[in-house]
Amino acid sequence: MINKCRLCGDADISLTLNFGHQPIASQLITKNEKSSPKFPLQLGICNHCGLIQLLEAAPYEALVPSMPLIYKEPEQHLDDLAEQITKIPGLSVNSVFAAVSYKDTTLMDRLHAKNFLNNWQINPKSDLGVANNNANIETLQHYITPETSCHIAAKHGQADCLLARHILEHADKTQSFIKALSELIKMDGYLVIEVPDCTSNLQLKDYTMVWEEHRSYFTENNFHKILQHSGFEPVTITSYPGIYENSLVQIARKVPSSKIDTAASIDTTSLLSVYSAAFTAIKIKLKEYLTEQLAGSDGLVLYGAGHLSAAFINHHDLANLVAFIADDTAEKQGQFLAGSGIPVRSSDAMMTGNYPLCLFGLSPEIEDKVIANNQDYISQGGQFYSALASSNRAIHKRISGYTPNNPS
Ligand SMILES: [Zn+2]
Repeated sequence: MINKCRLCGDADISLTLNFGHQPIASQLITKNEKSSPKFPLQLGICNHCGLIQLLEAAPYEALVPSMPLIYKEPEQHLDDLAEQITKIPGLSVNSVFAAVSYKDTTLMDRLHAKNFLNNWQINPKSDLGVANNNANIETLQHYITPETSCHIAAKHGQADCLLARHILEHADKTQSFIKALSELIKMDGYLVIEVPDCTSNLQLKDYTMVWEEHRSYFTENNFHKILQHSGFEPVTITSYPGIYENSLVQIARKVPSSKIDTAASIDTTSLLSVYSAAFTAIKIKLKEYLTEQLAGSDGLVLYGAGHLSAAFINHHDLANLVAFIADDTAEKQGQFLAGSGIPVRSSDAMMTGNYPLCLFGLSPEIEDKVIANNQDYISQGGQFYSALASSNRAIHKRISGYTPNNPS
């Protein structure tokens, strides 16, 4: 299969890291089956425009969750961002604000509190015809096309400012998706777009970052160029710090014609190549270390039945070492991880056997709370580490030969 860049359409794409065929990381299944569908998971970079992206990937239909989910995105910077938006030249309390998805609601609420009352949000059912109640961002990105956007703009009116938090990275056809966003905005209007910054995960060599739902991976070095292909010019780009990853926010203005800076960023290209080249050695060392630590025990526990735990287990080929995933969300208990059949149990199960290690597969800010709630596990000798390299408790630090690449 010939891959074309999701952004610029160029065929000069290098495959840098191939995880082979992988099950859907965010999926839990009700039966203990190891035969869940698997899809290629391949990370690469476009040598023309510099966008890091998945080459082949699972179709969006395979990503629809089996239950309604709300993905929580970082919020600690939203007061600041709302303040920044109100100061954009040309915007006033009379301006029309629009939002792409439920992920924009909390930012829109902040603008509303500042008396910016004129707003609308895309309704997946009535605006896009999405019928499945479990459909999430993976489906929304597919249905938002230049054509559907024209209809939505005719219905609600083009916006002076469109909010689009944490959806661009999910877009299958990046350029067409940005064009669709452009259709929703008046000429000289603004797009406020937010994506995760993958720089720190590339530097820290964290391979749980690669997720079938994220088709594109942005760094500060490539993000400023992304919207230029579709008639926007960057006004401001801010990187807001986060514990697991930073958030990149670009405010861009829709212009009649934009300059396109196509040169791939050397920094991003070399960061990705070091990250990709280090994978196999880290995978082997990690497996060796955990095998040794778990000898004679009842196995490894992961904490948090989400895509980060699944990616950590699947990408590093650790399923045989894992006893179960602890998660206190009642609906997840009794289910199994797709592809490996690892069961999800309540965290009480950590007290029912010899489980010397528990690795967090969730964002580091939640760790202290989980530890406080599981003091009995620690008293009986259990140790918590994290599967995520950005955590202070990262298991990576215990592997010989592990060194981050230029940590910031
Ligand atoms: Zn490209």
